[in-house]
This record gives sequence, structure tokens and C-alpha cells, in this order.
Amino acid sequence: MGERGSGKALVMAKRDLGAFARHLAASYLVLAPIVEGGVTRFAVAGVDDIGGFGDRESVPAPSKRPLKEVFFPQEEVLLAFDAGGKVEVAAGAAAPADEVTRVAFGVRPCDARSLTLLDLVFDAADYKDPYYVGRRQGTAVVTFACTEPGVACFCTSVGGGPSDEAGSDLMLVEAGESYLVKPLSARGEGLLRGFDAVREAGDVELAAARDAEARAVGRVARDVPVDAAVEKLAGAFGDAVWEDLYRKCLGCAVCTYLCPTCHCFDIGDEATRAGGERVRNWDSCMFPLFTLHASGHNPRPSRKERFRQRIMHKFNYFVENNGRVACVGCGRCVENCPVNLDVRRVLETIAAL
Ligand code: SF4
Ligand code: SF4
Repeated sequence: MGERGSGKALVMAKRDLGAFARHLAASYLVLAPIVEGGVTRFAVAGVDDIGGFGDRESVPAPSKRPLKEVFFPQEEVLLAFDAGGKVEVAAGAAAPADEVTRVAFGVRPCDARSLTLLDLVFDAADYKDPYYVGRRQGTAVVTFACTEPGVACFCTSVGGGPSDEAGSDLMLVEAGESYLVKPLSARGEGLLRGFDAVREAGDVELAAARDAEARAVGRVARDVPVDAAVEKLAGAFGDAVWEDLYRKCLGCAVCTYLCPTCHCFDIGDEATRAGGERVRNWDSCMFPLFTLHASGHNPRPSRKERFRQRIMHKFNYFVENNGRVACVGCGRCVENCPVNLDVRRVLETIAAL
């Protein structure tokens, strides 16, 4: 979203990161990964929360809950109605006039990339979800390149990488005692306006950032044969392999709820005699009710069909519809599946068919 930035690399001292966070907080609502109830999620961050980012130890860790909820909340009211027939559409449907009012700060490249996939669904040529589009237009994304990919990360196998720029407006890359600051859009440049602690990057800093980026790519532990799996999936719908692959799955849906690219939802009316609200909630293809027809028929009657659907949607149907896999290799589903059903192993098994 938005025009590209000038591409001119700048630099700021690491000790000035807290000042930058406060500079942002003075003009924007800042959402950053903070711990709520023992879980890291993007939420409105106070100056004290984000001010601590200047401290090397507290540079934001990847958020357990994905960035998608900043744009596509787990639950949201679409409209309200009363018994007299009056309907009031929720304010979220009014897209701001391309004015940035919020900043998602401390994003990781895989989460930023996930927005470019969600855009294909909610900001498609033939359908634009006004609630999502409004939030996208009104939110700038400030990303930190990863230096220490996690044990479950495989971003480099799905077209991304520890310093992938897709979906970001501004990217910070570690360069020794400084951060290389890369404005990637006009919106990213706008975030730097009035912040004096940046200067043009020198050759030494550019080289340090390049080294850090190369080191991080080398630390991504696993090369997953995603392209080969995509190719095999085209003819694998009826394969017996699903009989084995799904067995451990409990159908808990943790993998889809935490996935930054999963976007299934349900819409229902919560009403009393006086009126009510139309509410959109995240849903999941891993639940039996997701496809249960009113007749009682369910085209995906067991966990096998539901598990297959999740894999086919991400690595076959989405590719057919949009030319890209619906996975950014963030590893959340790997790390949080209660029975260790590892999507990387699933893809390796399918690639070997
Ligand atoms: S998190 Fe694991 S057990 Fe739960 S639905 Fe996903 S694959 Fe199945
Ligand atoms: S499928 Fe798993 S690894 Fe891929 S984006 Fe979703 S949570 Fe991350």
C-alpha cells in the first residue's frame, strides 16, 4: 500500500530507538507487541512500553499472536440495528482519507509480509472489505529485520527472509551499534519527519547491515521444499497420504488462529427483542461446524478432510487463485500445535510423493 519511499538508507544510534518510539507516540496511536495475560500480542502501547525499546534487551520479540488482528480483529461489530429497522454501520467501515493515524511498531518481516497476502483477500480487485481497507490505509508498519530466526522459522522457503521488505513502510536493520533505517514508502518517510536523530548511512553501516542480513539468512534452520510440495499437491487431493498425515491432529484450531495469513470468519447476529449487533468472528476450517450444512450434511466430516483443507488452501487453492502460497514461514503453527504436528514435515512428506 502507498508509494515507494526514496530508498535512501539512513541510520540511527540504537540508544535513540526509545526516542523514536516516543516521537511516533506523540503523533500516532502506537500498537506494539506487549505481554497481556502471559501472551505477546499487538496492542496499544503506552510511552513507557515503547520507550523501553531503546534498551537492547527489550527490542521487541516476535509476537505470539499475529499482526493480523490489528487489521482483522478476532471479533468486531460490523453494524448495529434496532427493532424499528434502524441500522447503524460501525465506524470502522469509514475508510480514513489515506491519513495515517496508527503505527504498528516492532513488527517482524514475516508478519509484515502476511499483510500483502491478506490484501489479496480483503482488498481484492473485485471486493474491498471497508473495515480492513480502512485500517490498512490508516496504519503504517515499522518492521525490525530478524537477526536470530527462531527454531521453527522457514521464511526463506516461502519467498520471504529475515529482512524481507514486503508489507513494511519502514524497516530497521541492526548495523553494529546503530540501526540502518530504510524508508520503504512515502508513509515510512512521513514517520521520520521531525525526528532529528537520523543521518544518512555511511559505507561502514551499510556493510554491517549487509553482514547482519546475510548472517540471519544463514541462521534460518530449515530449507523446506515448498515449491515441490505445491507441485505435488495439484494431484494429491485423493492420495492415501492424508490418512497418515492428519492422525495426530486434535482439531483445536490453534494453528489457524495464530496463523498470520488464515482469514476465515463467521458473521452472526447477536440480538434481543430491542435490537442487536452483527458481529464478525474468526472461524477455522479445523472445526466441524465450519462446513456443517443446515441439512446435517458435512462435506468435511472428519479431521482428515479438515486437515487436508488447511494444507490444500494454503499451498494449492491460494496459489491457483493468487499465484502465491498463503504461508510466510513464521513457524507459529509449528511451535504452538499441542501435538507437534509440524507443517514443515507435512510439506516434506508431500514433496516426496
Ligand atoms: S494446532 Fe495441531 S492439533 Fe490443533 S488443529 Fe492445528 S494441526 Fe491440529
Ligand atoms: S501456516 Fe504456520 S508457518 Fe505458515 S504462516 Fe501460518 S502459522 Fe506461520
